[in-house]
Amino acid sequence: MEVIIRDSMVHLTQGDITKMDVDAIVNAANTSLLGGGGVDGAIHRAGGRAILEECMSIRSRQGGCAVGEAVVTTGGNMKCRLVIHTVGPVWNGGVYDEEEKLRNCYRSSLRQAELNEVTSIAFPNISTGIYNYPKDLACRIAFDEVSKYLLNNESNIKRIVFVCFDKENFALYKKELEKV
Ligand code: ADP
Repeated sequence: MEVIIRDSMVHLTQGDITKMDVDAIVNAANTSLLGGGGVDGAIHRAGGRAILEECMSIRSRQGGCAVGEAVVTTGGNMKCRLVIHTVGPVWNGGVYDEEEKLRNCYRSSLRQAELNEVTSIAFPNISTGIYNYPKDLACRIAFDEVSKYLLNNESNIKRIVFVCFDKENFALYKKELEKV
């Protein structure tokens, strides 16, 4: 399923982001950058040691990655050239600026993508796993930030894929895409 926004394609798919044939995939990392569970664990497993090594060197330079920011490493053994690691907010009832922080994840990731001449990028459903962000709210934010970005920028990114792992997220994104 796909829609066109300005001159970029926005796709929706269900599956494993580590298998995606795109220029860059986004990781829902944590501030330590040392890997973890969920999509982060899957990316480190599939990409191999090179990703962890670059994360460790970023960590020694700048002490990890703040919530809402993004850093870039190789894609290692995966098809993608790059991994853009962003850190989503932990949901704590919505009164700790979680929305702005999640919006920043999408903005920072797209900014890093642009700086690294990425032409296609895949996003997971940041914060909607272990970090417990309500899936419907997170979906609207993801779609809103990506659409705004494409409408307001002359972008090199010609393909954006939302990769949903679970059925619930897939159904929410499908509804959102159908509104376009
Ligand atoms: P967070 O800590 O940001 O919540 P998680 O990794 O726990 O990160 O979950 C983020 C989203 O990634 C969830 O919707 C989860 O279902 C999904 N996910 C887990 N594994 C994968 C994978 N291999 N590919 C794509 N999405 C995944």
